[in-house]
Amino acid sequence: MPSLKAKPAPFAKATAQLRRQLGARVATSTDALFRASFDGSKLSFLPEAVISPKKNADISAVLALANKYRVPVTVRGGGTSLTGSGSPIRGGWVLDVSKWNKISIDAEAGMAHVQAGANVAAIHAAAEATGWFYPADPASKQYCTIGGNIACNAGGMHGGKYGVTRDFVLALKGFLPTGEYVEWGRATKKFSAGFNLRDLWIGSEGMLGVVTEAVLKLVPLPPARWTLLTAFADEVTAFKAIRALFAQRVQPAICEFLDRHAVQCAEAKTGQTVFQGQAGRPVILIELAGTANELADLKPAVLAWATQYAAAHREAANRAEAEELWTVRRKCSSAMFALGDSKLNEDIVVPLKNYEKFAVFLDKLRKSSRLPIPTFGHLADGNLHVNIMYHRENRAEYLRAEKAVGQLMAGVVKLGGAISGEHGIGLAKTPFLALQHSPAQIKAMRAVKQALDPNGILNPGKMFTLFKVWEHPRLKIELPWDHK
Ligand SMILES: Cc1cc2nc3c(=O)[nH]c(=O)nc-3n(C[C@H](O)[C@H](O)[C@H](O)COP(=O)(O)OP(=O)(O)OC[C@H]3O[C@@H](n4cnc5c(N)ncnc54)[C@H](O)[C@@H]3O)c2cc1C
Repeated sequence: MPSLKAKPAPFAKATAQLRRQLGARVATSTDALFRASFDGSKLSFLPEAVISPKKNADISAVLALANKYRVPVTVRGGGTSLTGSGSPIRGGWVLDVSKWNKISIDAEAGMAHVQAGANVAAIHAAAEATGWFYPADPASKQYCTIGGNIACNAGGMHGGKYGVTRDFVLALKGFLPTGEYVEWGRATKKFSAGFNLRDLWIGSEGMLGVVTEAVLKLVPLPPARWTLLTAFADEVTAFKAIRALFAQRVQPAICEFLDRHAVQCAEAKTGQTVFQGQAGRPVILIELAGTANELADLKPAVLAWATQYAAAHREAANRAEAEELWTVRRKCSSAMFALGDSKLNEDIVVPLKNYEKFAVFLDKLRKSSRLPIPTFGHLADGNLHVNIMYHRENRAEYLRAEKAVGQLMAGVVKLGGAISGEHGIGLAKTPFLALQHSPAQIKAMRAVKQALDPNGILNPGKMFTLFKVWEHPRLKIELPWDHK
């Protein structure tokens, strides 16, 4: 643990009162405060207390006191956010709901009743054990919670065909920032009674309420899968090809892309060639899911497409071989640190019609910034992880990275896309919010925040307050997922 500077505790009186009320559920040890001070972004800001609530009354007590003394409260799930949305930048209290992790599957209705701290991989496993499937699958699923996924509207590899977290949330329970208990929606497939504040909470990054429970919709578990690896001459050809596949009304369950720079990183790290004979070429991994008959119907069309567009293609012979292909995809993120000690990892979205234009734009950005920008992501929904790599201590590189990220965001918006598809704004994307949203839109968002959180206690300092992530040092620590 890095050495921590003692700072004055502006909320000491409130924290003392909280301790009297909740006793051991309030931790103030150096170790507990440090562990709650950062998320996956490794931006660290020390809180004054970490609260592990046991029951609903604890949460309303925390929020009541926080409002009385104006103490910032940051809700914490798995702490995997990549934007700093879970880092308590204004100090105060961290409300850790990660132990609220019950999961119950209603196998008849095809629904999962979960507490906010339920681990997402555990929800997947519980659903699959009953023949159901929960498709929203962030790559961090072994570590993150459903509450965090709801707060960030998390996506994943299955997004193109099935959708993202929002598409599966039927109902939410929890607390308004004022401490009042609320329920949005029911365990029903339809609900059209009143304003839809359930959807307002989804993606609100812990700024509009505390989620304690959710009801999730499940879909039947696809009985069969088929995986195809395709390599292309270059990125423009790959993007053109995938548009041609979608134009045939083929909807892969997964459609993951690695550009040639990401492939080279993965190959250098693993010492393996992603695609024998096609070293360093951009690849698309395609997975179809459905019944055996559905796959048998689709396969000939997909193989004919691959023959027409790809430089090479290879079917996975079995699940083990398919898993090998996915392993390469998972390794490429950590492999990028061979190219720089710092990464601006974006999760932009590009509309389908502009895929090729984006490939050309990105190549120009690489040339003008003279920085490595390996890119990979979810091609079925245009959500690409663009990684600007640089050395933070190298002033010239640092300035080029700062300029490049601004150009990237402006370029994406100009192409009709989004500055974030799944990670949210948090701290890291605050400089770009005004590129995406007009003053009227931002004013409306601020008005909602003011109406629900009049004292501004829930996750303050995020979304609307400028924070230049590249100016801030990150913790030099290894997190469990760093080398997976
Ligand atoms: C290796 C890695 C891979 C990743 N891959 C993906 C990916 O494929 N797709 C994707 O979408 N994201 C991905 N992420 C980002 C991250 O996992 C997601 O944003 C995830 O949703 C965060 O969940 P969490 O439980 O860790 O939340 P935290 O990091 O603890 O919190 C994130 C935000 O949610 C709020 N929050 C948490 N719980 C609650 C609650 N109960 N009520 C209200 N607000 C709450 C917090 O205040 C904070 O603002 C990845 C991260 C890592 C480290």
